[in-house]
Amino acid sequence: MSKKIQAVRGMNDLLPKNSSLWLEVETRISAIFNSFGYKKISTPLVEKTQVFQQAIGAASDIISKEMYSWQEANGESLSLRPEGTAGVVRAMIEHNLPRDGVQKVFYQGPMFRHERPQQGRYRQFHQIGAEVFGAENAKIDAELVAITHNLWTDLGLKNLTLEINTLGSNADRQSYKAILVDYFSKHKSELDENNLRRLEQNPLRILDSKNKSLQGLIAAAPKLTEHLDDASKQHFEDFKAYLECLKIPYKINPHLVRGLDYYSRTVFEWTTDELGAQAAICAGGRYDGLVEKMGGSPTAAVGFAIGLERLILLLQAQNISLESPVLSIYLVAFGEPAQRKSMQITQKLRRALPTAILYNDVSLGSFKAQFKKADKAGADFALILGEEEISNNQISLKPLKNQGSQQTMSLEKAINYLENL
Ligand code: ATP
Ligand code: MG
Repeated sequence: MSKKIQAVRGMNDLLPKNSSLWLEVETRISAIFNSFGYKKISTPLVEKTQVFQQAIGAASDIISKEMYSWQEANGESLSLRPEGTAGVVRAMIEHNLPRDGVQKVFYQGPMFRHERPQQGRYRQFHQIGAEVFGAENAKIDAELVAITHNLWTDLGLKNLTLEINTLGSNADRQSYKAILVDYFSKHKSELDENNLRRLEQNPLRILDSKNKSLQGLIAAAPKLTEHLDDASKQHFEDFKAYLECLKIPYKINPHLVRGLDYYSRTVFEWTTDELGAQAAICAGGRYDGLVEKMGGSPTAAVGFAIGLERLILLLQAQNISLESPVLSIYLVAFGEPAQRKSMQITQKLRRALPTAILYNDVSLGSFKAQFKKADKAGADFALILGEEEISNNQISLKPLKNQGSQQTMSLEKAINYLENL
């Protein structure tokens, strides 16, 4: 026997026993997006590397060390998408969509990052995200938060914390960066290797450091919120006021800077303390400068992404199953004419009971063997077609989960009974 081949580390199979939970979560999120008037957009898993470099920034963790990239025969560099926003922005510009007015879209799918795999952190993972183009007002930032908040409520999730911050305008950030570099340069000896690199390339990210010994130094650092221009200050005030009128509690975290370079003004994260270091379930923010930076006309933009694996882990940690009982029926058929008849009957049943699960037996074993299969499938009823039923043009219905005896009747009567359960 040849050696078994295993999946790539950090890239998981979604097995049948878990897939209905995923499907249910995805269905509920799509329903919420629909109700807010968001339309789905799908972009390719592969883009020109340049798309991500321009959008995310060369100094970010994603571009500097996490991206799967390769060269085509013609020398062009392509990459697997590490996140969803860059491709959506590329598509918006390519198809000129913001010209037609405010665009509200959502996407869903796998993302790829070369990280160290652990619980809640994978090399292929899934995000559902939303982006809005062409709206500058903080009302839309708050609407995005409301979407996620409604989702947690709908799923029954508890104990999620909304952390918010503002990164100001580009100009605010530039002058603040200089102040920050000045501050951390005076404390260079206390910085670790990673943060010394950030001091050169991406000083804001030092604030986001998970290194415990740096927390005192970070807490005492000058705060961006003290260096905002009036318009950015007002935008943040508006955002908070909208959250308050939506009755969504929040915590201001002045060190929330997000890993991606493209953010400006609003940033937010929904965090949990139930998943260890993989605390962020959802992250988002405003990126007003990005569309122009990528070659489009200046267009305000804001969005978020939910990490689906972490969301599912949290549902499991909180013992939330989301399974709603669905009527299921196993068709037991014995003998050649009964096999054919059972196919016909299933079609009729499908039309009459569109939400029910109907299992057609394919083992063609003895009655006993088929009943065993029906039990294993967890069916509520066995619908039986034997020689006697066929010759009398009837069926027998047997409850499998609760008491009650087998009864023989016409198919019409059985359907009527099952419809009114
Ligand atoms: P972290 O700080 O945990 O690395 P991030 O800032 O890199 O997260 P984003 O790029 O903002 O994450 O992605 C949005 C969401 O996608 C995260 O909040 C998280 O839920 C999820 N996510 C990010 N990276 C991974 C990964 N490698 N595996 C699973 N989920 C992930
Ligand atoms: Mg990361």
